[in-house]
Amino acid sequence: MPDTKVLINCNVFDGSSPQVQPDRYVLVRDGEIAEIGPAGSAPAPDGAATVDLQGSYLMAGLFNMHTHFSLALPGPLAESVRAMSPHELAFYVGDGARRTLLCGVTTVRCVGEMDHVDFALRSAIAAGRTEGPRILTAGRALVCTGGHGHESSNTLECDGPDGFVRGTRAQIKAGADLIKVMISGGIAGLHETMDTVPLAPDELSAVIFTAHAWGRKVTAHAGPARIIGPAVDQGLDCVEHGYQLTEAVARQMSDRGVSLVPTLSVTRCKDFFDSLGVPAWMQERSLGAASQHEQSYRLALAAGVSVMLGSDVPPFWPTDGTSATVRELEHMEAFGLPPGDALLAATRVPAAWLGIDEQVGSVEPGKRADLIAMREDPTATVSALRTLHWVMKDGRVYRDDSWVS
Ligand SMILES: [Zn+2]
Repeated sequence: MPDTKVLINCNVFDGSSPQVQPDRYVLVRDGEIAEIGPAGSAPAPDGAATVDLQGSYLMAGLFNMHTHFSLALPGPLAESVRAMSPHELAFYVGDGARRTLLCGVTTVRCVGEMDHVDFALRSAIAAGRTEGPRILTAGRALVCTGGHGHESSNTLECDGPDGFVRGTRAQIKAGADLIKVMISGGIAGLHETMDTVPLAPDELSAVIFTAHAWGRKVTAHAGPARIIGPAVDQGLDCVEHGYQLTEAVARQMSDRGVSLVPTLSVTRCKDFFDSLGVPAWMQERSLGAASQHEQSYRLALAAGVSVMLGSDVPPFWPTDGTSATVRELEHMEAFGLPPGDALLAATRVPAAWLGIDEQVGSVEPGKRADLIAMREDPTATVSALRTLHWVMKDGRVYRDDSWVS
C-alpha cells in the first residue's frame, strides 16, 4: 500500500505566482506531491494519514545556496573544527545537516567543504543513515597557492592552467555537482585585499572550460566589479558575495544570466563572529563593509540580476532569534527584494540554477514533497518564516511543533 498523507487546512504558496491559494489540501503519495485542491474536496484514500495544518501557510522547503558545514574561520572554535579527526568531523557535519533540515532548509549547495566530507555526508543522507537536506556540492573550492581560504582543507591549491584543470577534474571525480573557485581576495584576508587578482585569465578559463565540458556549472567567490566583469565574459555561472558591483557589471551579469548569491549576512554577523572567537581585525574588515555590500546588492536588484538565498554562516546558526538562513532572507527583503520574489529566491530560482527544478523548488503535482509550514503569511513578509513549525522532506515529517501551544 502506498504511503499517503493528506495535508488539510493549509494556504499554499506554490511558487508559480506571488499569490497564496487559500484553503487547500495537498495529497502526498510515496514522497511525491500527487494532488492539490480546494478544501472540502480532499480525498480520503484507504490508509491515508491526515495532517491538520490548522490554517498554516505551506510552501516548498528552503534552499541555502552558500553552505559550509565544516566552516573553519580564524578563531578558537574554528581551530577546533580544523583539528578534528575524520570521525569527529563526520559527526560534526552530520549534526549541522540535521539542524539545517529542522530549520526548514531541504536543499543546500555546499561551496567548499573539508577533505571531501561533503560526499560522505551526501551519501549518508541519501541512504537514510543520517538526517539532513538534499546536498549538491562543489567538493573543495579551487584556489591558487596562498589564495583566499588556502589555510583550510575546504580548498585545494592549484597553479597554472594544467593545475586548475586537474583540480576541477579531481572534484568531479570525487562527485562534485558544481565547481567553486576563488577569483578575488576576501574582505578579511591577512596578506591579500579584496582587489587582489589571484588567478590568471588562462587559469580561470581552464576551470570554466573543464567544468562546462563535464556539464558542471562554476560559481566564484568574488568581490570587486573589475574582477567579476572579465569572469562573466569568460562564462562564469554565478557570483558569491559580489561586495563591490558597479551598475555596468550588474547589467552585464543580468544580460548573461549570471546569478548572484549576495551572502549579506557575512558583513552583519557580529554575534556569529564573537561566538567563534574571530579576531577583531577580521571582524572590523567584514562588518565595516556592510554598507557597500548593501549598495552593491541594490545595484544587482536594479539591474535585474537573478539573486539566490545563501547565508555562508552555517544555515542553522541561531541568529537574531531565528536561523541564519531566514535572517539572510530578511536582509534580502529589507534591502529591496519584495517578499514574493524573496520566497522564489529561496526555492524555485535556486532549484532551476541547480538543474533540479523538475523535482523540487515548488508545490506542484509530480514534485518531491519537500514542504514547510508556518503560522503567518510569508508573502506579507519573509519574517513569517520565524513562525515555521513543520518540515517535510520526501514525504516524511521531520519536525512538527503543533503540540506546542
Ligand atoms: Zn563561503
